[in-house]
Amino acid sequence: QAKANDGNNYQFYSPELNERNLTRLRMELRLRQALERQEFVLYFQPQVAADGGRLVGAEALIRWQDPVHGLIPPGQFIPLAEETGLIQPIGDWVIQEVCRQQQRWRAQGLELPIAVNLSARQFRQRSFIDGISQALAQTGIPPHLVELELTESMLMQDAQQAAAKLNRLKALGFRIAVDDFGTGFSSLNYLRLFPIDVLKIDQSFVRELQEDRAALAIIDSIIALANALGMNTVAEGVETQGQRDLLQRHGCRTIQGYLIAKPMPETAFVQWLTRYQAQSTPA
Ligand code: C2E
Ligand code: MG
Ligand code: MG
Ligand code: MG
Repeated sequence: QAKANDGNNYQFYSPELNERNLTRLRMELRLRQALERQEFVLYFQPQVAADGGRLVGAEALIRWQDPVHGLIPPGQFIPLAEETGLIQPIGDWVIQEVCRQQQRWRAQGLELPIAVNLSARQFRQRSFIDGISQALAQTGIPPHLVELELTESMLMQDAQQAAAKLNRLKALGFRIAVDDFGTGFSSLNYLRLFPIDVLKIDQSFVRELQEDRAALAIIDSIIALANALGMNTVAEGVETQGQRDLLQRHGCRTIQGYLIAKPMPETAFVQWLTRYQAQSTPA
């Protein structure tokens, strides 16, 4: 241990272990420590009805509260966690933490569906269904309060396996959402094969909604498709009232984005909710 700091590190040098690999290796080590030291936190972003604004759910988004570097967003560590397999314990933690959060909220009289992002590797795990079922059983959380977010590529990777898994999850009562819908290169045929409840319209379309007629046309077709197939639609990344109005007029049911609120840690979320409901409930 002491040796690593005594300036003789050069003996480990090899062309393979260059600066980039070292940075990765250090990051991997830090990620492992973060797990042990419980440095991950879940933030929650509200989802509200486009029409009327009623709170309908929240998405759980992981952050890494690093004691030295501060709050690190998932984009900076989830890919490495995927590559190294650390996503499995991290993913387990996320599910357990969502259950614990549900328990705390239910104790306060708040029953709110939480959407959870799954990673490809986590979903492919053979023990995934047993693990998540166990986490819910242990905390007494009904599966309909958990929405599982998958991406198109996760569904396409091994479509038959994925369909079998999703059918089991659906039968257990979980809700299934497709995240970043419209950005993958997948065929629409898979919408017939999977028991999907929700299409999440990717924020790249929402961003261009008012400037780009093509983006609006794509959103229109996603909403029409969802309606025809009996699925709900959630628009991600809604930042302006103009976007919200347009989405609502075009029949999008649920809105998520900075216009409503940024993702917040537990306490701030509950404070936000109290204020939000006081504002939107007529006296
Ligand atoms: P995502 O699931 O598509 O999540 C939406 C992202 O958009 C979040 O970024 C959220 O903070 C951000 N966002 C929400 N509203 C707005 C808005 O109005 N404007 C803009 N510009 N951005 C908005 P975040 O939290 O950095 O997460 C990034 C991605 O990391 C997520 O994309 C998801 O794919 C992944 N991720 C997050 N949490 C987890 C997790 O627990 N497990 C796994 N496997 N992946 C996660
Ligand atoms: Mg998501
Ligand atoms: Mg998304
Ligand atoms: Mg995503």
